[in-house]
Amino acid sequence: MSPTREMNAKTPSPGSSDEPFIPYGRQSLDESDITAVAEALRSEFLTSGPRVPDFEEALAAYCGATYAVAVSSGTAALHVAMLAAGIGEGDRVLTSANTFLASANCAEFTGASVDFVDIDPVSHNLCPDALAGCLQPGVKAVVAVDFAGQPCDVVRIAEAARRQGALVIEDGCHAIGSSFRAGDKTVRVGGHPWADLTTLSFHPVKTLTSGEGGAVLTDDGGLAGRCRLFRNHGMVRNDRISEAQGPWFYEMSELGFNYRITDIHCALGRSQLNKIDAFIGRRQAIVDAYNAAFSGCTNVRTPSVAAGGGHSMHSISPAWHLYVVEIDFQHLGKSRARVMEELRHRGVGTQVHYIPVYLQPYYRMKYGYGPGKCPVAESYYAQALSLPLFPAMDDHSVSRVIAAVKEIVG
Ligand SMILES: *Cc1c(COP(=O)(O)O)cnc(C)c1O
Repeated sequence: MSPTREMNAKTPSPGSSDEPFIPYGRQSLDESDITAVAEALRSEFLTSGPRVPDFEEALAAYCGATYAVAVSSGTAALHVAMLAAGIGEGDRVLTSANTFLASANCAEFTGASVDFVDIDPVSHNLCPDALAGCLQPGVKAVVAVDFAGQPCDVVRIAEAARRQGALVIEDGCHAIGSSFRAGDKTVRVGGHPWADLTTLSFHPVKTLTSGEGGAVLTDDGGLAGRCRLFRNHGMVRNDRISEAQGPWFYEMSELGFNYRITDIHCALGRSQLNKIDAFIGRRQAIVDAYNAAFSGCTNVRTPSVAAGGGHSMHSISPAWHLYVVEIDFQHLGKSRARVMEELRHRGVGTQVHYIPVYLQPYYRMKYGYGPGKCPVAESYYAQALSLPLFPAMDDHSVSRVIAAVKEIVG
C-alpha cells in the first residue's frame, strides 16, 4: 500500500476489491530518481553540499523567480518566509479559511495572531472582496493559498494588501507549474511580482516530491538572504567577521532554526523537476477524463476555474494538485462518511480538503472563532470530496474511479 499523509496515520483495509487500492494521491518515482539519490549517497556531501544550490537554481529558473531557498518542508518554508518578512508578536496575518493548517500555523509560530478570510464559491480560494473587509491596520501579511493548484486572484489580493502596507506570501504548495496571464505576460506561481514571497512543498502527495522538502521563491535579494539566515540558526560567517575575530568565528543576531534540506532530498527534487511537464500533463489528462465523465451527473459538481479571476488576471491555467468534487450529501441521502466507505470498499481512496482551519480546537480556544465565521468555506467543506489524482494513475484506475463514483453517487 502506498503511503500518503493520511494512511501513515491509519492504514485502511483493502476492502473487497480484488484490484489494487487507489490512494487519493501518491508520488511518481522512476529509476532516474533512484539513480540520482544513489549518486548523492555516494558523494562527499549528505547535506549543505552542491545539490542544494543545484536544485534551488533549477527551481528558480522553472518558476521564473530570481531566488529560491530550499528548506526541509513546506511548513518550514512558510515559517522562514514569515520570519524573513519580519512578522512577529503584535502583528496580524490573514489567510484563507480553506487551507492546510500550516498556512495559518506559520504565523502562530512567530507570535503573530491569525484571522481567516472566506473563500470564493467558484475557485475556493481566498475571496478578494471578503479580504477587503478584513484588512485593517496591524495586518502585516496575507497568506494567499492556491487551492488545488488553481492560482488565487493574487493581483487583486496584492492591490488590497499593499494599500494597507501588508506583504503577500503566496502559499503555492499545491501550485508549482500553475500559470496565468496578467497584463501582456504569462507568469507562473512563484515568478510574478504580486507575491513578495512564494512557498512550495515537496511532500510525496504534491506535484513534485523530494521526500520531505519545501522552498521559498522571491525576487527580493534581501528577503532571500533572510530566508537563508533563518534556515540555519541565524548564523552568519563572512570575511568581515573572520578578519575581525578569527577564522572560526560566526555571529548570531537573529534566532533561527535548523530547517536545512539534505543533498539526498535535493537530488530527488532535482530529478523530479526534469519530469514536471509530464507530471502536470498526466494530471490534466486525468482531470479532463473526470470532467467529461461527471458532466452528466447531477449529483456531482466538478471543479471550475474562476473566469477572468479579477480584472487583471486571465487565461488561468492550473497545474491540478487535487480533484475536488462537490456533492450535496443531504440531497443524496447518504453521508459523506458512508460514500467514502463505499468507495474504499471498491478500492478507491478519497480525502476531504479542507476542514475550515478556524474550526480547529486550537483556533476556537485561542480566538473564540466558531461555526458561521466563513459561511462559503463551511458550505463548501460540507460537500467536498477529493478523488484520486496522481500521474502514476493508469487509464484503468481512472475508469475504476469513474465507475465507482457513478455507481455510488449516481
Ligand atoms: C502541504 C501543504 C503545506 C505544508 O507542506 P509540508 O511540506 O507538508 O510541510 C502547506 N500549505 C499547503 C496549502 C499544503 O498543501
